[in-house]
Amino acid sequence: DRLRLDCKVAYVTGGGQGIGRAFVHALGEAGAKVAIIDIALEKAQAVAKELEVNGIKSVAMAADVSKAEDVKRIVDSIVANWGRIDIACNNAGINMNSASEDTTLEEWDKTFNVSLRGLFMCCRIMLSQGYGKIINTASMASLIVPHPQKQLAYNTSKAGVVKLTQTPGPEWIDRGVRVSCISPGIVDTPLIHTDALKPLVQRWSNNIPAGRLARVTDLQAAVVYLASEVSDYMTGHNLVI
Ligand code: NAD
Repeated sequence: DRLRLDCKVAYVTGGGQGIGRAFVHALGEAGAKVAIIDIALEKAQAVAKELEVNGIKSVAMAADVSKAEDVKRIVDSIVANWGRIDIACNNAGINMNSASEDTTLEEWDKTFNVSLRGLFMCCRIMLSQGYGKIINTASMASLIVPHPQKQLAYNTSKAGVVKLTQTPGPEWIDRGVRVSCISPGIVDTPLIHTDALKPLVQRWSNNIPAGRLARVTDLQAAVVYLASEVSDYMTGHNLVI
């Protein structure tokens, strides 16, 4: 079965809850060993326990993806323990909500650093292996901006994630490394249940073609597809869900 990921080594950042947790389960069920990376170690450990129940091999690791030294540490540690990295899901993200004119430099830097720093720390090992699948989590907000908005830093950083996908993708494909990203619409995760986002989400929801918020399970097949050999001819793609 060409959608199987047996013997593959994966990591998922922000794997402790929401979309990342769903990606961890999907990759694990498809046969991959998964490093679950989160700034909140206890969340990653809880997900590792869930996998253990199903006999899936995983490890929980604490890291702040906005810090280059943290990302280097986890990449080195995965390679030391499991020998390689085949699938890298750069999924961690944060969402702060200010009107554009109120966006602080601190909010800007924090959002950009989580979204964009350290996304390619795995590329050297993948290029030296001659194989790898990088799957970034962008957002539909990288493409369209539903009104009303209060997400200047977030939307702009997610547009950056798309360019961080489209630029190196074609550059690396003849060396075996593919880069793609997934752009979900509004997904029912803890991220959207903040006081600031709730009223916005309510307004945006009226325009969802499917008539409901996405569930994390709506995204799972996509990550397996992009991680598996069936999508080997594709790179630089932004898959909107
Ligand atoms: P979430 O807030 O439910 O989960 C995010 C996880 O990332 C948490 O476990 C958190 O602890 C972890 N995290 C936060 N900062 C981190 C850091 N610096 N280093 C490591 N881990 C960190 O969010 P989610 O809804 O699952 O979102 C996952 C990704 O999907 C994000 O990139 C988000 O921008 C994107 N996204 C979400 C939606 C949505 O509607 N939920 C829509 C489009 C895109």
